[in-house]
Amino acid sequence: MKKLYVGEMTRLEFEQRISEAKCVILTAGSCEQHGYHMALDTDNELGHYLAMETARRTESIVMPNINYGQVWSARKFPGSISLSNDTLKAVLKEIILSLESFGARNILLLAGHNGNSQAMKDVARELVNSHNLHNVWYFQQNNDKSLFRYLEAEMPCNCVHAGELETSMMLVVRPDLVDLSKAEPDFPKLPPEAKYRPVSWDEYITVGSYGDPSLATAEKGKIFLDSLIDELVHLINDIM
Ligand SMILES: [Zn+2]
Repeated sequence: MKKLYVGEMTRLEFEQRISEAKCVILTAGSCEQHGYHMALDTDNELGHYLAMETARRTESIVMPNINYGQVWSARKFPGSISLSNDTLKAVLKEIILSLESFGARNILLLAGHNGNSQAMKDVARELVNSHNLHNVWYFQQNNDKSLFRYLEAEMPCNCVHAGELETSMMLVVRPDLVDLSKAEPDFPKLPPEAKYRPVSWDEYITVGSYGDPSLATAEKGKIFLDSLIDELVHLINDIM
């Protein structure tokens, strides 16, 4: 079987696979607090899982993940390591230019952590301007809202950071990194001024997770993961 993960390829395998692959998927996650019940690596694991499952169905290949991201909102919680947008953009850009030099047909920037989305979009735009590259794409995890009916916790907390939704997905991907016995419900209220000035999570959040993560199940997680993978497969197979 053809290898999908670049980190396991030899130089000769990489040379062949990058020229035939429809798309090279580059994920960027985060080292970030995910409440009392889930590991710092959550976004790295979720992004890599989405990338690998997508690659299986699209003749794509997957780059080693960028393990750090832009985590400004959660930066004061222990374990959250935050890069600036500029640093993340520089890393993305240099990896993209390397991949282009080896003949990548399309490059998809997949945000394992949605805080990386702005940097991804900006880099793709800048590379159009500076290098006339039109084969750099980006994907943010915008869950299909019609699937929210499968969640139980009070909206909108169930679908935000480390809540019922993200915990459910992690129960599919790395259940060994989830400890539901430590999950604590918290329904933080966003201060009204957050619309008008930067407000970081430590100003109004205690636990670090939203809603009631103890409602998470692998069954729910699979529904949301499958939906994201379907969208990714559609993007690569039908739009690129
Ligand atoms: Zn996360």
